[in-house]
This record gives sequence, structure tokens and C-alpha cells, in this order.
Amino acid sequence: GVGHEGFDAFEAARNLGRAPASPGPGATSPPPGKAPAGAPAGEISPLAPDGRTELRWLMASDVCKHCTHAACLDVCPTGALFRTEFGTVVVQEDVCNGCGYCVPACPYGVIDQRKEDGRVWKCTLCYDRLGVGMEPACAKACPTDSIQFGPLEELRERAAGRVAQLHAAGVADARLYGESPDDGVGGDGAFFLLLDEPEVYGLPPDPQVTTRDLPSMWRHAATAAVTLAALGVASFVRRPR
Ligand code: SF4
Ligand code: SF4
Repeated sequence: GVGHEGFDAFEAARNLGRAPASPGPGATSPPPGKAPAGAPAGEISPLAPDGRTELRWLMASDVCKHCTHAACLDVCPTGALFRTEFGTVVVQEDVCNGCGYCVPACPYGVIDQRKEDGRVWKCTLCYDRLGVGMEPACAKACPTDSIQFGPLEELRERAAGRVAQLHAAGVADARLYGESPDDGVGGDGAFFLLLDEPEVYGLPPDPQVTTRDLPSMWRHAATAAVTLAALGVASFVRRPR
């Protein structure tokens, strides 16, 4: 850990949710005198949903989810956005022309557009590091292993175990978000363990591929165009001499 004037922030972070007086996942601050049985008086108790007050710590990183079906890829006209050999979605800022089509296409709103020239940035899951066999910097740097990197199936299994652990500890609202291949985007490459409804974190409860209706829209547009052309021809043919 790193010491700072006698305070080791990494050690404190490591102990979150372990020390009796430390707020852990879903920790809430019970009103004075109403701490759950067994909680040290006057201290914040971990895992106390029944004593919930308006103050809670809910952490999540608002990053690209590396969707299985990524609408951003469907709308990019330059190929600046592409699917990598690792299954992640990466944007090449030097190819991007700043059109901004991808920004509203992303169901999670995680693409940042630069005001000056419109070019966009987002999490690449450290494409450069993956290329040389390293894990993403966030997973490497996180002192509590709250961010983990690995084969998706393995992570899903580990996360399901963690949710079961939290449920057993009384955190009834714990759930995974984006882990299911059956959701509206075919599952996310980066999924999350939430301690409340997705909306509380500012996440869409039922994310959808925003371009999913494009093929049928084009079909309808083509049908309409053919019908109009046919009407045009018909009226021309029937014009009185
Ligand atoms: S989260 Fe948004 S930017 Fe990331 S892959 Fe999905 S659609 Fe693209
Ligand atoms: S802003 Fe850049 S990355 Fe986004 S759709 Fe346009 S060219 Fe592609």
C-alpha cells in the first residue's frame, strides 16, 4: 500500500466491508440507536439493508460494456470503431471523422465526443496492453480486486458465487448486470455486480441494440419506394392522350 501522513489508503480500501466499522458492499448507515443486533454502537454497520438510510456508497465505473451486439459498430461509416481479436470494441481516434453517429447509438451513453472536432473516445479495455498479454490497467491497479479480468465464462461463474454470498449476508438486492447473453445486446463483455436496481446507478434496465430495427426499416423504405415508382408508372401509362 501507499502511506500518506500515516494513513494507508490501499490498506483501508482492502479492509472495506471487513472491519466491523467499515462500510462494505451495500453498507448503510443506521439511524442513531437503531443499529442492527450485533453492530458496534455508534458505528456504521456493514450489510445492514434494514437499517438503510438515504446515505449509501454505490460504486460503478461508467465505461464501455463491449456489447456482443454493438450498435456503435453498425453506424460508424469510417471503420474507426472495430471489433478486436479479443472480442472488445475499440475506437481509433485517428480514423474517426467526428460525425458523432455512434454517440446516440450506444445504449449506455458511454461514448465521449470532443467539442473541438467531434472525434470520440471511450474505454478500449486497454487494447494495447491486451496485445502484449497484459491485463487492463484498471484491473491491474484496483487494490481490492473489485475489477477483475479473465475469460468471460470464468468471471460469470465467480460473479454468481459473489452474488450468492451477498444474498446469504442479507444484501437481497445484489444482482449481476450485463452478464446474460440473452439480454437485449447479447450480453456485455464488461459486466457488473450491482447492489440495487440498474436505474439507481443510471443504467438502462433493459438495454437494447439501438440499430436492431434498421433492417426492417430499410425493407419498409424499399417497399415504399417500389410502390411509389409503380404508382408513377401506372399514372404515366393511364394519362389520356
Ligand atoms: S457500450 Fe456502447 S460504445 Fe461500448 S460496445 Fe456497446 S454500444 Fe459500443
Ligand atoms: S464519430 Fe467517429 S467513431 Fe463515431 S461513428 Fe463517426 S467516425 Fe465512427
